Amino acid sequence: MKACVLRAPAPIETNPLAFADVPAPQPGAGEVLVRVRACGVCRTDLHVVEGELAPRKSPVIPGHQVVGVVESCGAGARRFAPGARVGIAWLHHTDGTCSYCRGGAENLCDNPAFTGYTVDGGYAEYVVAPEDFVYALPEGFADEQAAPLLCAGIIGFRCLRLSGIQAGGRLGFYGFGAAAHVAIQVARHWGVEVYAATRDARHQRLAMELGARWSGGALEAPPAPLDAAIVFAPAGEIVPAALKALRKGGALVLGGIHMSDIPSFPYELLYQERVIRSVANNTRQDGADFLRVAADIPIRTRVHIYPLAEANRALNALKNDAIPGAAVLKC
Ligand SMILES: [Zn+2]
Ligand SMILES: [Zn+2]
Repeated sequence: MKACVLRAPAPIETNPLAFADVPAPQPGAGEVLVRVRACGVCRTDLHVVEGELAPRKSPVIPGHQVVGVVESCGAGARRFAPGARVGIAWLHHTDGTCSYCRGGAENLCDNPAFTGYTVDGGYAEYVVAPEDFVYALPEGFADEQAAPLLCAGIIGFRCLRLSGIQAGGRLGFYGFGAAAHVAIQVARHWGVEVYAATRDARHQRLAMELGARWSGGALEAPPAPLDAAIVFAPAGEIVPAALKALRKGGALVLGGIHMSDIPSFPYELLYQERVIRSVANNTRQDGADFLRVAADIPIRTRVHIYPLAEANRALNALKNDAIPGAAVLKC
């Protein structure tokens, strides 16, 4: 099969992904083999490709927002029939036995596997995944429209939940990429006012088109105190600015898997019971709940399609803020 293979992490400007012929994977017990139709491009893929996340498998095929069709089932796999359209996300597998898994927090599992990082992902014609970690996808979304729901959408949804935002509340978004452009649609559906701080003028415009009350520069102060804020951008210097924008008791949620160092800041920015927390991965319940909400609203993703062979170009564009919405690779 054709796949985009990362042999060694390197700056994306050097085109580190090789479009190569590799053996197609075979489904093991309890797994399904999926023929990929579309795979979303996520900032986490960029962190994997550039080595900000330490390599866990090498070589590796990135990609964890897979929409495809079940081609065949491994021994004992019965949940999906061949031909079923399914989604594969970041959480590839958990042990099911650690204290986190048993406590309903499988996103924090002690022995997790992650799609496109610790196992091969969806920048390829075929990918395998345990059937228990594969999502049935709602109809009504074209393949390329559904792909960004599987990480940008699910993680953004978990961020929204953990922010504690309520109807009528004021919510800040710092960074307005793929995750934010989906999360704003959920927030607006819930009756939340959104304030979008982002450095790129195209992203500011998209935020306003999608119903933001205000948009401005990444470190600019929103015009009203925020009940909660989510930092999607991987830039630690945003954290003090976002804290400054929170009302007393407000929550700041950090949505990324990687962030540059957070500069020191005066305690008074945090005092008055403001809270900072990160979001790590998602549970399968988050995924199922989000996909239901996405179909109900319905969410409309803005996608920019690249051929599978041009994954380097898509990641380059992502790095340079050149994609309003989400990039998607199509097979
Ligand atoms: Zn576990
Ligand atoms: Zn992702």
